Amino acid sequence: MTDRQQAESPDRRNVTVIGAGIVGLCCARALQRRGCSVTVIDRDEPGRGTSFGNAGIFATGSVLPEGKPGLWKRVPGMLLDPMGPLTIRYSYLPRLTPWMLRFIANTTPRRVEEISQALSTIVQPGLRHYTELLDDVPADQVPIRRQGCLYLYPNAADAAAAKADNATRQRRGVALEMLGPDEVRQLVPAIGPDMAGGALATASGHTTSPLALSQLLAARIAADGGTFIRAKVTGFAIGESGPTHVHTDQGDFLVEDLVIAAGAFSKPLAKALGNTVPLDTERGYHVMLPAPEVDVRVPMLVSSLGFGITPMSDGLRLAGTVEFGGLTAPPNYARADALLTKAKRLFPDLKDSGAERWMGHRPSMPDSLPVISRSSRFPRVFFAFGHGHLGLSLGAVTGRLIADLVQDRGAEIDTTPFRADRF
Ligand SMILES: Cc1cc2nc3c(=O)[nH]c(=O)nc-3n(C[C@H](O)[C@H](O)[C@H](O)COP(=O)(O)OP(=O)(O)OC[C@H]3O[C@@H](n4cnc5c(N)ncnc54)[C@H](O)[C@@H]3O)c2cc1C
Repeated sequence: MTDRQQAESPDRRNVTVIGAGIVGLCCARALQRRGCSVTVIDRDEPGRGTSFGNAGIFATGSVLPEGKPGLWKRVPGMLLDPMGPLTIRYSYLPRLTPWMLRFIANTTPRRVEEISQALSTIVQPGLRHYTELLDDVPADQVPIRRQGCLYLYPNAADAAAAKADNATRQRRGVALEMLGPDEVRQLVPAIGPDMAGGALATASGHTTSPLALSQLLAARIAADGGTFIRAKVTGFAIGESGPTHVHTDQGDFLVEDLVIAAGAFSKPLAKALGNTVPLDTERGYHVMLPAPEVDVRVPMLVSSLGFGITPMSDGLRLAGTVEFGGLTAPPNYARADALLTKAKRLFPDLKDSGAERWMGHRPSMPDSLPVISRSSRFPRVFFAFGHGHLGLSLGAVTGRLIADLVQDRGAEIDTTPFRADRF
């Protein structure tokens, strides 16, 4: 059934979504298109959280979890190298340890296979769900491009190390074109001598502006009667059958159905509403280059260096790396500078005048799977958070699945792996 047909159904509900990041906005828009009345509460303007600064890649080939077998052996190195693609701040280690132990427990070959299977069901159709969610917007107003995504291998060792991941991708049906150095050079002429080949995930895409995409969704929601409230949520008034009001720094608001989509900040909200979840944050950085003076047309992921390179409407974005340091510690922008240094090795002519740096909080679960779920305690409360490295890619499909849950419809995708009570 299409969203339009479903909107004609009598199952109209008043739904409050907490969080106007890409995930909350997609949930609100999907629910609205099904005929629900939606209110979105955020302490900030739509799309200004982590969704603002990501690499903008709809990574339909990301069917592998972040944790790989044997990763635990790298933990000491992560503590010693604050500029590495993956690092842990010493001061945060005690708080991180329970999460890290769960993360490592999910790196056995059996778990990696199960997680990959579950991820595949939501990652691969991720871009198609955006097409459906935005099919009432003229194509030239949608800041999404479908030129694939290039996995770039700077040296032969990286290319060799990627073979197993690419075999898994192909086994799961991800369309990949393996490219030699000459073919990569044709696609990205500005690339320097450090390059041993690549793999083009042809069904992937990117947004030319993550912020513009969020703003487009917010504008559609508002145009169709949705309400936005700028307030920080501090708690809930709970009645016999669930929350009756949201407490905020701007007063209390009546709620019927509630969706928690507050990204990395969802943990205390979910706890107040029935589920204790092992949500932590993997902090990431970007450098935006407004005048890079190199011609890059396809987005690229350089896994060995831990970041992506994406052509956007306002310049070239270098974005990625993982830093475990919690929600409150100040950014270490030297990590963003390290991105630039590494990118200059790949693109020797890259210019950095006017560069801007940013840090954001990925909402990360230790099994690399999001929470897309009904609360275990309150039947009219739903959770949509924990999308880690893939929140942009998974926004629209999450919206679809949350709308199915809110309206009690059978979903086309099995949501069991994403339940909040799976831990
Ligand atoms: C460097 C980097 C690169 C990335 N690259 C990619 C990529 O290429 N592709 C991809 O798919 N993903 C990528 N990601 C991941 C992606 O950005 C995130 O998974 C996604 O943005 C999470 O969206 P969200 O809506 O859950 O969270 P957010 O965008 O953080 O939104 C949560 C919202 O909740 C609000 N909020 C929180 N607490 C409260 C409260 N108490 N009261 C009111 N409002 C509240 C916040 O203000 C915020 O607006 C990247 C992430 C980083 C850091």
